[in-house]
Amino acid sequence: MDATHSDIAIVGAGMAGLACATQLAAAGRDVRVFDKGRGPGGRMAARRADVAGETVRFDHGAQYFTAREPAFREAVAAWEAQGVVARWPAAQTSSSDAAWVGVPGMNGPIKAMADTVAQAGREVLWNTRIEAVRREKDRWRLGSGKAVYTADTVLIAIPAEQTRDLLAACAPAYAAIAAEVTSEPCWAVMVAFANALPISRDASRDSAAPISWAARNSSKPERGGGETWVLHASPQRSRELIDTPREEVGPILLADFFDQMQTKPVIPIHIAAHRWLYARPASIKGDPARYDRQAGLGIAGDYLHSPRVEGAWVSGAALATIVLGKAQS
Ligand SMILES: Cc1cc2nc3c(=O)[nH]c(=O)nc-3n(C[C@H](O)[C@H](O)[C@H](O)COP(=O)(O)OP(=O)(O)OC[C@H]3O[C@@H](n4cnc5c(N)ncnc54)[C@H](O)[C@@H]3O)c2cc1C
Repeated sequence: MDATHSDIAIVGAGMAGLACATQLAAAGRDVRVFDKGRGPGGRMAARRADVAGETVRFDHGAQYFTAREPAFREAVAAWEAQGVVARWPAAQTSSSDAAWVGVPGMNGPIKAMADTVAQAGREVLWNTRIEAVRREKDRWRLGSGKAVYTADTVLIAIPAEQTRDLLAACAPAYAAIAAEVTSEPCWAVMVAFANALPISRDASRDSAAPISWAARNSSKPERGGGETWVLHASPQRSRELIDTPREEVGPILLADFFDQMQTKPVIPIHIAAHRWLYARPASIKGDPARYDRQAGLGIAGDYLHSPRVEGAWVSGAALATIVLGKAQS
């Protein structure tokens, strides 16, 4: 048996890739998942920081999610029973639409899904960036540094712009679909204070302001530490600062935040910034996942459904359903 070969290779272990992988693994398919990240999360990442001798978890990507489609509601109920998601009332905007967060960090359900794949005897390889995909005789060849993997079927579950680049040479039709999408960037700032800020709301959104989202990260369950906040700059403010060094961006956006909240500036005890180049795609219409059975090639991701956690799950689950032959592509 060739240890570098699997029937199915999935590139991307975010919500879309793992929604797909868990269903394929549960159906007994030989699937292997690759992700360039050091650990589970993707855009549902959680970053640990040592703040005043305590470990704090910041959600610097997705902040919370809602569940509207029945199949996704079922998945969320199972995660709640497992203890990897919990409600976060601060972001709830209507009585029927609960706001959910991962626990102990936003990547809780991503980690749980990766564990499920591993428990089914399938591999999820972290720190493995797939740099090139090409068709070779009767199989796909995936290159990562010096390592080479092969698969009969390859499923790409990464942001649209990266899908476009990875498939440009080997699958121009799917690269062209991904090329229709443009994503907005987002600068995220993670900040901790010695004392609670005099701000009563735990979550504020204002799409017209430089800081379009601000959340008291420490009001989420199990984040640890004292007073912590996550600030997201609007797409416009993020573009203005796109090439500004990250050490400078944190203080600039923190000043924007205090200004907006009409609060006296306070010196933080920890501050870090992260730039998401492809935070939110303008999703395209049509099927939530695409699959060419003859070529053994498929694509999934939030950009094919809606730019949200639920959209990514729906897309990944749809791709698994098509691959398993339960629905038409
Ligand atoms: C700042 C920010 C705020 C957000 N806020 C919310 C929110 O409040 N609510 C909500 O519902 N959604 C929110 N979202 C959107 C939500 O996070 C995404 O829609 C969803 O997580 C996308 O999942 P995905 O699997 O499609 O992609 P991703 O999560 O991006 O997963 C793709 C994975 O592929 C990996 N990868 C990429 N290229 C390669 C490669 N060449 N080789 C190997 N691996 C690769 C990446 O490491 C990543 O883990 C937010 C996103 C951001 C960035």
